[in-house]
Amino acid sequence: MPTKTVEENRRASAISLLAEPKLDALLITTLHNVRYLTGFTGSNGAVLLFQAEPAIFFTDPRYTVQSQQQVNCRVRIAKGPLTKSVLREIDRARVRRVGFEQDNLTVAQLESYKKELPARAQLEPTSGLIERLRRIKDAGEVEHIRASVVANSRALENALKRFKPGMQEAELAAEIDYQNRKLGAEGPSFDTIVAAGERSALPHAQAGPAKIGRGILLIDMGAFRDGYASDMTRMVHVGPATPKYKRAYRAVLEAQLAAIEAVKPGAVTNAVDRAARSTLKRYGLEREFVHSTGHGLGLEIHEAPRIGRRDKTKLEAGMAITIEPGVYSEGWGGIRIEDTVLVTPSGCEILTPTTKELREI
Ligand code: ZN
Ligand code: ZN
Repeated sequence: MPTKTVEENRRASAISLLAEPKLDALLITTLHNVRYLTGFTGSNGAVLLFQAEPAIFFTDPRYTVQSQQQVNCRVRIAKGPLTKSVLREIDRARVRRVGFEQDNLTVAQLESYKKELPARAQLEPTSGLIERLRRIKDAGEVEHIRASVVANSRALENALKRFKPGMQEAELAAEIDYQNRKLGAEGPSFDTIVAAGERSALPHAQAGPAKIGRGILLIDMGAFRDGYASDMTRMVHVGPATPKYKRAYRAVLEAQLAAIEAVKPGAVTNAVDRAARSTLKRYGLEREFVHSTGHGLGLEIHEAPRIGRRDKTKLEAGMAITIEPGVYSEGWGGIRIEDTVLVTPSGCEILTPTTKELREI
């Protein structure tokens, strides 16, 4: 018997999740989940998973050739909206309880399904089923994330070589995106953050026309490579760092290292968050840490699990997460340090190769 593909194994795992909510079928419309289950990278697709028969993938005629190349389950090319084609298969398979992804389907889409649903069938909302599977990365996914993270680090070094004081934030952000593209990325995994001086106190500052002068420079950057995200924040001080900056930098770095130290299988995510927060408390900076410690990443830049104060996910080997504590002081600036970390059977591995030594340029 030929060995099963990664996608076939994932579909089998997904089908086992249908037993508890007693679903006969599950309609997947979230594109990242469609990609995860079929390998399809296009912009219009859906999957119908069944308890009792093989899965069906739906797309439109633009993707006839691409779906032949990428997808190894039954394919239906819908001439009109996918809805009609999906409903036809729900009817043919004579299924009753059909789950749908409530976080993805719009009210209008749900209405159009309901309008022509076979009388025997009913639609059941589900949340986070495939996302739960996606938390644990398989070997191939780990390699994609590793490659994405390593290339992102190289892109930072290449961009910093071209940095000159007086450059606009947006120029440096564009340079970073350009370098990532040149290294093989499909594009940024979020809007690149380049925040200079006081603007670094905005945790999600948008790079703009502001000129980068002497002082704090916060860079938060990531890219998609083979579909997988990278995410890193590094600080650069333009000119010699002040004692205040040095102390705050040390505090954030210690908090980041303490959180990484807490990452291992079985550790609860809020304990990882607490490790960062209690370190900052020793410096009297815990109130300046206004966001959570990190997040999972993979096909999306932010995915499960969250590493926050109230999150109680038990970490498992194969999870890829960020650890990114920061402190923000209005009128002064902000400092954040972020790595991507892989949970391993014995603890964790920091995937980000970029130095965290205090950097002055
Ligand atoms: Zn980031
Ligand atoms: Zn992040």
